[in-house]
Parts: sequence; structure tokens; C-alpha cells
Amino acid sequence: MSSSPASVVIYILSQDLVKYSSRLPSNPGRSLLVHSLAKSLGLLSSDYGAPRRIKVVKPKPATKDELAVYHAQDYLDAVLRKETGSDELNSEIEHLAEFGLEHDCPRFTGLAEYIRLVAGATLTAANALRLGYANIAINWDGGRHHAQKSRASGFCYVADCVLAILLLRKADPALSLSALADSTSESAVVATILRQKKTRVMYLDLDVHFSDGVSQAFYAPVSSTPSQVLTLSIHHAAPGFFPTSPLAQLPSTSFDPFTLSLPLLEGASNRTYATIWPIVERIKDIFDPNYVVVQCGVDGLAGDSKCKVFNWGLDVEDEGSLGWCVSRIVNNWSCKKLFLGGGGYHSPNAARAWSHLTSIILGNPVHVSTDIPDDPGFPLYAPSFTLDVPVGNMHDMNSKEYFAEVKTRFDMACEMLQERVAPSKTDMVQNAIDISAR
Ligand SMILES: [Zn+2]
Repeated sequence: MSSSPASVVIYILSQDLVKYSSRLPSNPGRSLLVHSLAKSLGLLSSDYGAPRRIKVVKPKPATKDELAVYHAQDYLDAVLRKETGSDELNSEIEHLAEFGLEHDCPRFTGLAEYIRLVAGATLTAANALRLGYANIAINWDGGRHHAQKSRASGFCYVADCVLAILLLRKADPALSLSALADSTSESAVVATILRQKKTRVMYLDLDVHFSDGVSQAFYAPVSSTPSQVLTLSIHHAAPGFFPTSPLAQLPSTSFDPFTLSLPLLEGASNRTYATIWPIVERIKDIFDPNYVVVQCGVDGLAGDSKCKVFNWGLDVEDEGSLGWCVSRIVNNWSCKKLFLGGGGYHSPNAARAWSHLTSIILGNPVHVSTDIPDDPGFPLYAPSFTLDVPVGNMHDMNSKEYFAEVKTRFDMACEMLQERVAPSKTDMVQNAIDISAR
């Protein structure tokens, strides 16, 4: 069997990653259920019959220096220190609050290991893409899109998405070297360097919540230079719905066209996503990324235990479903892809969803009518015991009028984006400096 990067999917997994991810207070036991189901369906086996072959890779825990590429030192000091006795902890409650380590983000046993492993898992996946081992990588334990530079937020303690984007946007070593090797003279080398655009990373967030941590990290409203990073979050936004952010609204005239937001109304269904998908494709075409990082939070699926606002389906065969959207990206987008997890509070449904997505990414979707195999978590899949996450009968509030407004706003956003992505001389000269400095 060929082992070209195009035929390999890196799947990040280790016993420690499962052990510590399963302790996440918002999703206890979820990681174990997710990977157990993928394994019992045969998806983690190298002989699962599919056009792409899975390669299970252990994460390398992130070092403090790797985390400090984005996170503040005092935050890392607080979350990575050894656990203390409860008396000592009580005396530091004020200190913990400063870093968001309370309410929905309490400290828990193994927090430091969890942070190092989840960030390390996403960085291991990103590095595999960057170094040319594969064109697609998966870390279902990542996708912590609410974490901030110096604060935990919304069940998220570590900004693995941001760290991966910062790594991927560095000049691509393989791309640059192969292009230079093909140049036959000094002037051709200079021409090649000038022609190369800077590496572009698109971040697409499908979680029901706005990607505030990631969007804010790359938000640059006053910059006139083209950004190497574009974020697009498709989510629900309403007064009081977490997280409230001025960036979570439809594009307006005074916004950064590289920080895009597409809020949907309650009851968003397959029909809704099928209607807006051409906008996603258009933005991708204009930005023309080298990499896409897809946060596949599954809390927008019908039947989520905490977030009962959308009525989105899973089945790849239904136009507009989560499975269908992921299949568009996998099969039609030419850039390299990093798939991450995210929210999802009905753990058996999260396991169903990420198993179905894994099979789609491998190129041989497991049918949603498939029975759940004999698995340690089997009783939790009651009452259906199949892979499907069926849609309910919630009314879809996204009307024709709302779609017309969305289209108008994104027509404007796409025009602004088109103007800004045209390569400038400054961009090309800086690119040449970056490459020659390596
Ligand atoms: Zn979420």
C-alpha cells in the first residue's frame, strides 16, 4: 500500500491522553468513550478498508516553552504547578479567580498533565502536517477554542487551536526547499522566493459556541497588511448565550475581514448549513489557505445534553449535515487539514459523531445505521444502539430573510477580503527575508 502523505491520516492517541482528557470536568469519561468506539468499529486498524490509511501517533507532551509561545508565563505558573494541599488552595482562591480557574474551569487532579498532553497532541498533529508526513491529521481531544492567553474559560484551559495556527503559519520548510531545488539559477531562486506567498492558515469553527479565544487571538482591525490567518466561526449568538462578544456578529463595515463570524438562529438544521455552505467555500477560495484547522465541536448536533439550540444532523448522506460538511472539506479542498474536537456534552453522541467523521476522513464512511459494536461503554448508547444522531422536530428559525441578510453581509466581507489578500510587495519582500533568515 502506498504511504504517500496524501494516503495517510494521522490520528493522535495515547493512554495518557485518554486518561487525562477523560478527567476534564465538563466532559468526564468522554475521551475514553470516543476512542473506544473508534477502535471497536475498526477505524484505528491499519487494515480498515479505505482509500486513506490511519496512522495512530502518540502525542509528545508540550513543554512550557511551547505553551509560552501564546500563553502568559504567570498563567502557566498557575496551571502547571504541582497540586497543593486544600488549605493552601483555599488561601489562593483569589489568585485562582484571576486566571479563570473557578466555576466552569476548576482546577482538577492532573490539570498540568492534561494541558501538556492536549496542547502536545494538537502540536504533534500540526507538526506531522508541516513536516510532510501526512496531509490530514486528527486530534479529537483538542479544539479548546475558549481558552485565552492568561485565563481559562468555557471549559477550556489551553489554547491548542491558537498554538497550532501559530506553528502552521511559519514558513513551510518542505514547500520552500522543494521550490528552491527546482530553481536552476540564482535569479530563478530570487524569482521563486518572491513568487511564494506567505503560509496562510484558515481556521473554521463548527462548534455551536463562538470561537472567542481563537478569533480574539488573531483579531487585527487596524492592520492594513494581509493577515496570514483567517478565522471563520459558525455558531449561535443571542443575548446571554456564551460567549458574548462583539466579534460574534455578522460582518459590518468596521470589521476585520480576516476575523469572520456567521451567527445562526435557533433550530439551525441541515438545510441551514447547506444554504450557507457556498459562503464558506467562497471565503476559502479567496483566502486560498495552505492549511485549514477545523474545530469540529459537536454540541450543535440535535440532542446535545447542554446546548439544545440547534437541530443539526450527522449523516454524511444528508446534504448540509456535519458529516456532509466535513466530507466537502476532506474531498474537495486541496490544502492540508487538521481536524480537532471541541464541545459535545452527550458523550455517546460525541463518540458516534467523531467515529463517523473519522470514517469519512479515511474515505470509507461507516453507515449511520450500523449497530454499536460490543464495547465497554455499550449500555450508554441506549436506546438506539446505532451510530446515528437523529435530528429532532425543532423549528428552524433561520428564515429566507435572514439568509438574505447573511448573503449581503458576506458579499461585502468577501469584497474586502479579496482586496486585502492580493499579494503586496511588502509581503513578498518580507517573505524573502524570512526564508533567507532560516
Ligand atoms: Zn461549544
